[in-house]
Amino acid sequence: MPTGYCSACTQTWPYPPGSPCPIHNTPLESIGILRFVQGQALLDDVLLARSGPDPLRAAADFLTARGIQSGERIQVTGTEGMLGEQQVIFVESVRRSLLETA
Ligand SMILES: [Zn+2]
Repeated sequence: MPTGYCSACTQTWPYPPGSPCPIHNTPLESIGILRFVQGQALLDDVLLARSGPDPLRAAADFLTARGIQSGERIQVTGTEGMLGEQQVIFVESVRRSLLETA
């Protein structure tokens, strides 16, 4: 699972992305390694999605358009949700992670 991260705390928390930071009450980002597999984007082992008729493709296109490549450590804002029976993260924004380790 991606790690919950608060950029105000600059630390990780054992909570899912989108849940509030225990100190700042702002939504946690998630940090993980991005992989593209068969046209889909995975952050660690969780599929990334966007809204639209093809949510998984939309997420992959969103990341590709920002120049993010497979194997990069990234931070995304978004919320966990379900797409059919799959757990996904609905991505709102993304950036390359500044953390060397997470
Ligand atoms: Zn915080």
